[in-house]
Amino acid sequence: MSAAKTFPPARDWDILVIGGGITGAGILLEAARRGLKALLVEQKDFACGTSSRSSKLVHGGLRYLASGGLRLTRDAVHEREALLRAAPGLVEPQGFAFAEHDPETKQAKGMTTMLRVVDLLAGRREPRWERPETLRRQAPEARPADGAPAANGIRYTDAKTDDARLVLRVLDEARVHGAVTCNYVTVQSLVRDGGKVHGAMLRDERSRAETAVRARVVVNATGVWSSLAGGDGVTDRAPRLRQLRASHLVLPAARLPLNQAVSLLHPSDGRPVFAFPWEGVTLVGAADVDDEGGADAPAHITRREFDYLMSALRAQFPQLDLNDADVVATFAGVRPVVDAGHGGAPASEKREHFVWSEPGLVSVAGGKLTTFRAIALDVLRHVAQQIPGWQLRSERGPVFARVAVPARHDVPSAVLRRLAGRHGLQAKPLLGAAHEGELECIPGTQTLWAELRWAARAEQVYQLEDLLLRRTRLGLQLPRGGLDQMAQIRAICQPELGWNDAHWASQERRYLVEWRKQYGVPAATG
Ligand SMILES: Cc1cc2nc3c(=O)[nH]c(=O)nc-3n(C[C@H](O)[C@H](O)[C@H](O)COP(=O)(O)OP(=O)(O)OC[C@H]3O[C@@H](n4cnc5c(N)ncnc54)[C@H](O)[C@@H]3O)c2cc1C
Repeated sequence: MSAAKTFPPARDWDILVIGGGITGAGILLEAARRGLKALLVEQKDFACGTSSRSSKLVHGGLRYLASGGLRLTRDAVHEREALLRAAPGLVEPQGFAFAEHDPETKQAKGMTTMLRVVDLLAGRREPRWERPETLRRQAPEARPADGAPAANGIRYTDAKTDDARLVLRVLDEARVHGAVTCNYVTVQSLVRDGGKVHGAMLRDERSRAETAVRARVVVNATGVWSSLAGGDGVTDRAPRLRQLRASHLVLPAARLPLNQAVSLLHPSDGRPVFAFPWEGVTLVGAADVDDEGGADAPAHITRREFDYLMSALRAQFPQLDLNDADVVATFAGVRPVVDAGHGGAPASEKREHFVWSEPGLVSVAGGKLTTFRAIALDVLRHVAQQIPGWQLRSERGPVFARVAVPARHDVPSAVLRRLAGRHGLQAKPLLGAAHEGELECIPGTQTLWAELRWAARAEQVYQLEDLLLRRTRLGLQLPRGGLDQMAQIRAICQPELGWNDAHWASQERRYLVEWRKQYGVPAATG
């Protein structure tokens, strides 16, 4: 990973991007690929904010059609198809099934019409209605509760990803185009002169060293932190934001085995809940609620949301007798949406991104993981107005350069595809660095032991949580955050990281405390 830095080289930049989530990463890549000298700084770890806590769907924005969001749906479908082409192994198709008794109801007809529009935008068509016996075969888990009559089903195909690895892949591609990326570097304040932003004051969170960098344009892509902590990024042009949180459960595939995604309506209030197979486990997710925590409090599931999701699962899968002990992890994410000011239900707020500018500074918030490239180009249109002589070429080629990993007799082709998708050009050296036995999957996951070694060696890991929650997703996939496998993880990673025993022990303590707070099962009340 060349040009990955702990502190940026002292030189002038064309563009400084603040925030290492998918929005900042996408802007960096599209800027670097168009010849700008580009620097990105992230105050903690890459993707540590909303971009590792999403529902992990690269989706056609079906639900936005219902609220008239045709542009968002069109962009989402276009980008979903582009990502499926460019990143097999990282972005993969995901079938969905709905149990629905009668194709003639208003709801069923509305759904089929919206799916036809999505098909049209995607340029392909798939069969929709399945008869009860076919649905039972294809999606046994979408069956109605015991005793209810057999249902027909609506089928459609969307896509899923590993959100944190998507960010890392985009950053890696940006570095190939000469960009520089620094994690654990905070923008403390913006440098202004005569009413114009000229750069920023940076602080390295490890050494506490401070430095100023100059840039022709600064881009504020800090998501829910878009007020830039001290209020420095806020102008009267900034929209009023409403912060919405949604939470997820993770169950082992053995306890909730799905071969399709299942969408269901919660029995208590009819809001949508979905479950789908992801990286060897099953993810369950919910609708948004207002987040009262504020940007500085890490998002976590509440007991109420936990019980709500569990009751949806028990109603859909009564035969599985699911309980708290079946949940290996939880996670929650917060998104900023423009507050329409009507105080309406969270689901009614628009999910589109918004961009606002002042001299030397362009800010962006909202949007979707799926549409990161469309958002990047929109931001760069604003940037172009502030860089005399630089014109935005807005054509969209492939999202990533093609990666070919040569076939090997000792690694199945599906594993090579997964590695190429998640690691891009690094897949080959990763395989080369593996020690004996490390091309096996860590039990209960699709992650290879070799991915841990490579991450520790080459992927800017500074905290144990970087390694277990974002370079790999073991903290979401293994019970107790991976505590039972910690000895093996340590044997591989401690020498690569160059940490002494005391440092490893303190990192492990810190990781487990944070894991319980943000990713554990919340204690039962009463
Ligand atoms: C629960 C949930 C589920 C979602 N599911 C999906 C989905 O399935 N599919 C989809 O397409 N979209 C989904 N989304 C939307 C998508 O996840 C977000 O739009 C996207 O992740 C936002 O990325 P971001 O880069 O703007 O923000 P973030 O990922 O939060 O990144 C902002 C970064 O800025 C950094 N930062 C803040 N202040 C500073 C500073 N002063 N200096 C340096 N760095 C700073 C933060 O540390 C953070 O890493 C979901 C959103 C939520 C909340």
